[in-house]
Amino acid sequence: MKKISIVIVFLVWIITACQTMIEPERDEVDLDSKEKGEETSDKIEDPVTEDEDDQVEMDLATYENRQPLQWGESVEGVKTRINTDEKVIALTFDACGGPFGNGYDEELMNFLKEEQVPATLFFNERWIKEHEQAFLDLANNPLFQIENHGTDHVPLSVNGQSAWGIKGTDSPVSIQHEVMGNQETIKALTGRAPTLFRSGTAYYDEVAVEIVNELGMEIVNFDVLGDAGATYSAEQVHQAILGATNGSIVLLHMNQPDSGTAMGVKKAVQDLRDKGFTFVLLEGMDLK
Ligand SMILES: [Zn+2]
Repeated sequence: MKKISIVIVFLVWIITACQTMIEPERDEVDLDSKEKGEETSDKIEDPVTEDEDDQVEMDLATYENRQPLQWGESVEGVKTRINTDEKVIALTFDACGGPFGNGYDEELMNFLKEEQVPATLFFNERWIKEHEQAFLDLANNPLFQIENHGTDHVPLSVNGQSAWGIKGTDSPVSIQHEVMGNQETIKALTGRAPTLFRSGTAYYDEVAVEIVNELGMEIVNFDVLGDAGATYSAEQVHQAILGATNGSIVLLHMNQPDSGTAMGVKKAVQDLRDKGFTFVLLEGMDLK
């Protein structure tokens, strides 16, 4: 009886020892395959999915009950000029997209290329989807800086304010969507995430500005209204741009080929160069 007990205890010890030896190996195998699986899924995961995860991580709760006090084109935090005393001017062109804004002013863009005039281009997602190849060509040209002009081209409001008859976003979450939807599209196509944002209509409240800043971008408007939504004649565009001073940011449009913008820009670029001005990108500039 005693021998049988000893044998049973011995067998139990053997079995337990074997399990202890096997278990860690199994764990290691499981862990390895899991890590490999994650690595594989990381590689095939597109950047859009990754950054949607990032979006969820941003805490918008602190903005939910904020009541904005300002509404307009130059509210607190919106940049309108380069902080400089030098004779530099930044030309910026919006590509607004949508039913009345999907044109492409190739004459204008060809002029900028031929004359080597650097320009910062703000693209709306609707325009990019309509002209993907043209967008990629412009993005590949170091003369141009590619920035974010929104997903649906709406004013940025935490409570649904309107501008120019267009209803704005109505919550911090919808602001995030308006900014990050197009941000991910541009990043996926160019490999670079924009650092500047300009809303459709260029209207904001100051809480929206804070949210965009927390999303990692500065909001850039303008101090020179260059073509008034591409409604100016060529001579009006010409005269408006001549109003630029040291560090000015000029707002123009590259999506209305039938407008006076291209001709006005051609004249103004020549005149301003004759006055000693240089055209610059906004990248790396101290904005105010
Ligand atoms: Zn626009």
